[in-house]
Amino acid sequence: MKKTLTDYNYTNKKVIIRCDLNVPINNGIITDDTRIKESLESLNYLIEHKAKIIILSHLGKIKTEEDIKTQSLYPIYLELKKHLNTNVYFSKTTRGKELELYVSKLKPKEVLLVENTRYEDYPNNLESNCDSCLSKYWASLGDIFVNDAYGTSHRIHASNVGIAKILPSAIGFLVEREIAKIDNILNESTHPFTIVMGGKKISDKTMVIDNLIQKCDYLLIGGAMCYTFLKAMNKNVGLSIVDNDNIDYCQKLLDKYSQKIILPVDIINKKLEVKDIDNLTDDDIGYDIGPKTNLIFSNILKESKRVIINGPMGVFEEKEFQNGTKNIYQTLKENNIKTLIGGGDSAASVNLLGYSNSFYHISTGGGATLEYLEGKSLPAIDVINDK
Ligand code: ADP
Ligand code: MG
Repeated sequence: MKKTLTDYNYTNKKVIIRCDLNVPINNGIITDDTRIKESLESLNYLIEHKAKIIILSHLGKIKTEEDIKTQSLYPIYLELKKHLNTNVYFSKTTRGKELELYVSKLKPKEVLLVENTRYEDYPNNLESNCDSCLSKYWASLGDIFVNDAYGTSHRIHASNVGIAKILPSAIGFLVEREIAKIDNILNESTHPFTIVMGGKKISDKTMVIDNLIQKCDYLLIGGAMCYTFLKAMNKNVGLSIVDNDNIDYCQKLLDKYSQKIILPVDIINKKLEVKDIDNLTDDDIGYDIGPKTNLIFSNILKESKRVIINGPMGVFEEKEFQNGTKNIYQTLKENNIKTLIGGGDSAASVNLLGYSNSFYHISTGGGATLEYLEGKSLPAIDVINDK
């Protein structure tokens, strides 16, 4: 068990908290403030407990001087100020006199947001390579380190792993909740346990499949992913997306787990025609799963005790191809099935289709959650002190 936020006394202590404030910004305007709002719980706890709070976060990627101009955390500072009932300061630099002065003047309950940690990536990738000098420098600014940035926990960076190796450390409430919920659904003994996989690229997901297929009773496959499996069964999939490098992989999986893997029997093509899987022609492009498949998938999901969704069933960004994905969410909601949503686009589809409050857990960390579902441990959580 990792130390959590409640395991330390913070009075008068300088606490460095790594948050994930990497929100989408368009022309200086924050278009989705979910990540800021989700970070408030841990920040408010530290404020209540009289810490001097230093926030580190990245924003986007910094590869050029132009990126430095456009990827400042300043708009996030302005937003954060509105939500926190205390003095909030902003250091325009990620190291040096100005930052050190702010830190030395911080009073208990006050907050300092430091500029984008990835400014240190230009030109030498110091943050992303977990440079030891940078890690030591940042660690020297604080007494305790808290990792509440779940979304970057699969990365070994100076602002998470680097500092945690040096200071006493804990996970924040966000990280604690994510891990607890994913562990819970993975390790519970209830069955049937059903995995729904979809989305675009099978190559991104083979390790997730390898790990979960052993634990689950059913693997329902839709999205673009199903066409590589159908091709492996020698079906004509027309011009649908196929990952030729993974046909062999799919074939082996089908041989070994034929009972568990459930593939679409019909699809909707780009021209909005419903087609049985055996009747696809050379110009067909599958964009969603069809009505018969919806029924088959629903019947399995209704009987399931826990479900993990990783990838949408169709091109959900377009209204005409939302049905398959929506049908799954509606079935799970109506039948009150314990459901975990993993994957960035899956989470986006849940929000877009109006199911943001319908499930056991919608994970906020795309890449981190995928790695966790692959059965890997997350380095920025591993490194945190045990209880
Ligand atoms: P996640 O982020 O949830 O892991 P992915 O990134 O694997 O999901 O895939 C999401 C994308 O897959 C979406 O943009 C969606 O439009 C696309 N997609 C789903 N089904 C199809 C399809 N049949 N053809 C092409 N793209 C598809
Ligand atoms: Mg994605």
